[in-house]
Amino acid sequence: MRKHIFNAGPCKLSDSLLENTSKAILELDNAGQSILEVSHRGKEFMAIMDETVAMMHEVMNIPDDFEILFLGGGASMQFAMIPYNFLEEKAFYLNTGTWSAKAVKEAALWGEVLEVSSKDKEFTYIPKDYDIPADMDYAHITTNNTIKGTEMLNDIDCPVPLIADMSSDFMSRPVDFSKYAMVYGGAQKNVGPAGATFVIIRKSMLDKVVDRPIPTMLKYSIHVEKGSMFNTPPVINIFAIRETLKWVKSMGGVEAMDKLAQERADLLYNAIDESKMFKGTVAKEDRSRMNICFIFEDKYEALQADFIKFAGERNIVGIKGHRSVGGFRASTYNASTIEDVEVLVKAMNDFEKANA
Ligand code: PLP
Repeated sequence: MRKHIFNAGPCKLSDSLLENTSKAILELDNAGQSILEVSHRGKEFMAIMDETVAMMHEVMNIPDDFEILFLGGGASMQFAMIPYNFLEEKAFYLNTGTWSAKAVKEAALWGEVLEVSSKDKEFTYIPKDYDIPADMDYAHITTNNTIKGTEMLNDIDCPVPLIADMSSDFMSRPVDFSKYAMVYGGAQKNVGPAGATFVIIRKSMLDKVVDRPIPTMLKYSIHVEKGSMFNTPPVINIFAIRETLKWVKSMGGVEAMDKLAQERADLLYNAIDESKMFKGTVAKEDRSRMNICFIFEDKYEALQADFIKFAGERNIVGIKGHRSVGGFRASTYNASTIEDVEVLVKAMNDFEKANA
C-alpha cells in the first residue's frame, strides 16, 4: 500500500515515473542494457537527453533564447556558480528564508550584496515594498521558501537580470520567462528524483560573465557548449525528469498543475483556519501552495508527537515541521493528490475531536 507522502524533497513522485523508471532500470527500450548501463554518449541516452530538453521547452513554454542544462551539485552549487559567473560589483538578493540566506552567503564572497529580507519577522512574509536599483549586476529571488512556507506566485518586474531559485515550485504554475534571465533548482520536488539540477539560462547571460578565472566545471558557458555533457550527466535522473514531463503533459500541462496546487492548498489551509487546535505560521497572502506549515495553538503543544503518531497510523508520512520552524509541514507537490490531502485533513479533524 502506497503511503500518503508529504515529504519536503525528495518527495512523492508520479506513479508513471516510478513504473517507467523501474522498467528502464531492468531494460531500456529493448536495448539489451539498463538505463544504468548505457553510455551517456550513446544514441539511446542522447535521444533521451534531446527529448527531455525539448519537452521542458514545450511543457514550461520556455522560449528558444534560453538554454536548458541538467547538472550535478544541487541548487546549492548554483548559489556559488551564480556570483562566481555574474557578480562583478553589486547584486540584489531578496532574502526570504533559509535557502536564500545561503545564496546570500555565497554571493558575499564575490561582491557587495544589497539585501532586502523578511528576517525581522522570522521570514513569515514576502517583502513587498522595495526597489531594485538599476546598477545591480543581477537580482536573485527564491520563489518558494520550502522551510518557512511562503511563496511568490507572481513573476516580478525587474530592471536588471532576474535570477530565481525555483527549486520547490517549478512546474507547479506557468512561468513568464520573459521576466527572467535564469531559473534554476534542485530537481527533487516537482521535477524528479534528487541528483539533478535544472538550469534554464538566457543565452545573452553568457555575454555578461565576469572576467575572472573560473574553474571549468563552474562555467555556464562550458555546460552550454557541451550540452550538459562536459562531465557525465546524472543519466537516470534525466530519464526520470523526462517521465515527469510526460506525466505533466498527460495531466493537462502546467496549467492543470497550477489548478491542482490551488485546490490542495485551499483544502488544507481551510482546515487549518477552521480548526481551534491548529494554526498557520505565515502571512496569509504569502502562503506557499507547496509547503504548508502549521503548528498547534500553545495549549496543545505537548501533543505534537502524538499527532505525528496518530497520522502515521493512517499511513501519513513526512508531516514533521523543519527543525527551525517546529510543528508540522505538509509538502503538497505536483504528485500529491487531493485524496492525500483529504486523508490528512480527516486526521486533523479526528485528532482535534478526540483531544480538544
Ligand atoms: N533552494 C530551495 C528553495 C530548496 O528548497 C533547496 C532544498 O530543499 C535548495 C535550494 C537546496 O537544494 P540542493 O539540496 O539541491 O542543493
